[in-house]
Amino acid sequence: MTAVSLSDVTFSYGDVPVVDGVSLDVPEGEFLGLVGPNGSGKSTLLTLMLGLRRPTRGEVRLFDRPAHDFSDGERVAYVAQDATDAARDMPVTVREVVRMGRYPRNLFGRFSADDREAVASALDRVDIADLADRRVGALSGGQRQRVFVARALAAEADLLALDEPTVALDAESREAFYDLLGDLNEQGMTVVLVEHDIGVVTARASRIACLNKRLYFHGDTDDFADSDALAAAYGSNQRVLDHDHGHGHHHDHGHDHDPALSHSDARDEPEDES
Ligand code: ADP
Ligand code: MG
Repeated sequence: MTAVSLSDVTFSYGDVPVVDGVSLDVPEGEFLGLVGPNGSGKSTLLTLMLGLRRPTRGEVRLFDRPAHDFSDGERVAYVAQDATDAARDMPVTVREVVRMGRYPRNLFGRFSADDREAVASALDRVDIADLADRRVGALSGGQRQRVFVARALAAEADLLALDEPTVALDAESREAFYDLLGDLNEQGMTVVLVEHDIGVVTARASRIACLNKRLYFHGDTDDFADSDALAAAYGSNQRVLDHDHGHGHHHDHGHDHDPALSHSDARDEPEDES
């Protein structure tokens, strides 16, 4: 089955479209990386995919139903761009947040043994069982991101959508977090990851969608490296593009933090960046 299907999706906040005529399918089990320069519409497209916004034109389907009236809330988990910031002040424990993943199933009832089991197993799978009674606000950024993933697992979500989840993490926690996403994907979870670090995406995702208002590329990771899509999509963004190279695969490190290609070893390129 197709997890997400977009056909000719256009969206504007005002008069000017920020997402323009995007069509793409995300089959179940895929790990899709969504890349593009700042302001290219990645976060907007993600919310369109999840039915949190309605397109101005075109259609979005989630698991073969119109996304805007998709009611099976627990099937889809969303870690928003500022999720960890918001959580910093939450006066709740890790276990309480993960239990929220069970709420859609328990609108009227009490927590059953199944619910408790699902919460315990989710905490276990992301390796934070020992943190269950800690306050979310007292965790590190990497630990907090795991809490949100655990909540998605407790919900038994089939689709996990994350918007730049590792911006605040150090390199080691980042790698560990992406290892976790890779494991979950191998176990069958469909993952859509918005990520500005192209090296990370090409190393982790099976397919790439490269956006700058419209879709510049959608296909296999290997083909993306060989295409001109990156240069085309990032063309006007001189902070990211290395103008000395014609291929568009090379980037300088002028980005404020997390240069777009910090994981250069993840790509198999003949030339080096020195
Ligand atoms: P990205 O995630 O790729 O950085 P966004 O989807 O956040 O891009 O934003 C795409 C464009 O839409 C940007 O020009 C941004 O300024 C604009 N935008 C984003 N959110 C809003 C909003 N709530 N109201 C008006 N404009 C917005
Ligand atoms: Mg964004």
